[in-house]
Amino acid sequence: METVQDLTNLIVRESADWQSPPRYYTWTVGCQMNKADTERLESALSQMGFLATTTASDADVIVLNSCVVRQSAEDKVVGTITSLKPLKKAKPTTVLAVMGCMVGPNQQSQLQKTFPYVDVFMQPQQYKPLLDLLGNKLDMDWEGCVGTLAPINPEVTTYVPIIHGCDEMCSFCIIPYKRGREVSRTIDDIVNEIEHLVLRGVREVTLLGQTVDAYGNDFQNKTDLADLLEAVNEISGIDRIRFLTSHPNYMSKRIIDAVASLPKVCEHINIPIQAGSDRVLEQMRRPYTVQKYLSIIDTIRSTIPSVSLSTDIIVGFPGETRTDFEGTLDVLKKVGFDKVHTAAYSPRPGTIASRKLPDDVSKEEKQDRKHLLEDIQQTINSKINETYNGNQYEVLVEGHERGHWKGRTRTDKIVFFDSTAELLGELVTVNIQSTGPWSLKGSLVQN
Ligand code: SF4
Repeated sequence: METVQDLTNLIVRESADWQSPPRYYTWTVGCQMNKADTERLESALSQMGFLATTTASDADVIVLNSCVVRQSAEDKVVGTITSLKPLKKAKPTTVLAVMGCMVGPNQQSQLQKTFPYVDVFMQPQQYKPLLDLLGNKLDMDWEGCVGTLAPINPEVTTYVPIIHGCDEMCSFCIIPYKRGREVSRTIDDIVNEIEHLVLRGVREVTLLGQTVDAYGNDFQNKTDLADLLEAVNEISGIDRIRFLTSHPNYMSKRIIDAVASLPKVCEHINIPIQAGSDRVLEQMRRPYTVQKYLSIIDTIRSTIPSVSLSTDIIVGFPGETRTDFEGTLDVLKKVGFDKVHTAAYSPRPGTIASRKLPDDVSKEEKQDRKHLLEDIQQTINSKINETYNGNQYEVLVEGHERGHWKGRTRTDKIVFFDSTAELLGELVTVNIQSTGPWSLKGSLVQN
C-alpha cells in the first residue's frame, strides 16, 4: 500500500522542482511557546511526507520562527531572513516562510514589501497559509492527511501549549500585539495530543501559556486549569505535569488545591511578580499589589508545604527609584524563591512603556541593580539547595550532560548523578550528596 511519503515522492519526481523526498529546515528563536509551535509545524510537514534536514541550503522548504520580544531578537531574525536572500535567488523553487511574533495581525503586507523574496508570512500557530501553498505545489489535500500535531521526536519532557495569546496589557510587553487575544484549546484536544506524546516516549508535560492560569476564561462554561490538570492527571503513561507561566491575578485556590491534591502535578509554581513596588507595578499595568502577591504566596505555601517557587523580575523600569528597587529585594528575602529570572528593562518599540514612559534609569544603574539582585538570589538559592543535602528524591532522567545523567526533582531542581544503566525517561531515586546554587549532585539509590 502506498504511504503519504510514496505519494509525495511520486509528485515531487514529476514536478522535478524539489528533492525526492522533499526536505524542510526550521530555525527557531524565542520562548518555549515558539519551540512548541515549530515542533507542531514539523509534525504537519512530516505527515505530508517531508523529511527534516539540518542545513538551510539542503532544504526545499525553509521556515523561520521569529521572536521580537526584545529588539536584539528582532535584529537576529531580520539578519537571518536577509542572509537567505542569495539562497532564494540561486534556488527560486525553495519555499521560504516566516512565522511567529514578527508577524502580527495585519502586518503581512508590510513585511511582504520589506522582504519580497519571502513566500509566506504566518502568525503564531497559523500554519495554514504554508500548508496550503505546499499542498497546492504537491497537488495534495493536506487537511486529509495531517492529523494530530504532536511533535514527532519529542523529548522525555515536552511543552504542550494550552492557551494562545494574552489578554493582559503589561506596559512593557509586545506579546499581546503580536499573539492576539487569549484562545484556549479544548481539554479533549489537549488530552488527545498528550496521549500521542506518551506513545512517543514522553513522561512529563509542561502545559504552556503566556497566562497559563487564565486557561478556560474564554470558554462559555466554567472550565479552568484545575479541570485540565485533573484530566491530564488521568492519562496513563504520564508521570509528571507542570504548567508555565502563571499570572498572579488568575492563581485561584482551585488551581492551588489541584496542585496539592493531584499526584502527577509537580510542586513547582512559576509566578512572576516583576517588581516589589506598588507604584512600579501600576506603571507596568500589573493589576495587583505587593501585598496581594504575598498573600497568594502564603496561600500556596500553606496548601502545598513542599512547593518550590520561581519568579520573573524587571529591574530599572522607568521611574524605579532605589527605594522601589529595595522593595523588590525585600520581596526576594521574604519569599525565598527557588529561582529568579531577572531582566534589566529595555524599551520595546510599539509598547505603551516605550511610548509614554521615559527610560530614565541609567544603563549602569540597571546593571548594578541586576547584579545586586542576582548576588542576593544566589545566596538564597544556595541556602535552599543545602536543605536537600543527605535526603533522597525522585528524579525524572532527562538525558546526559557533561558526562553525567541529568534529571529534575518534582520541585524543578536539576540533579546530576552517575550510572552505567540506560535510564533515559526513568523515574529514579537519588541520594543528594552535594549542592550548589544551580544544581544538586548525588548517587543513584538502587531500588
Ligand atoms: S501577562 Fe503581561 S508580560 Fe505576560 S505576555 Fe501578557 S502582556 Fe506580556
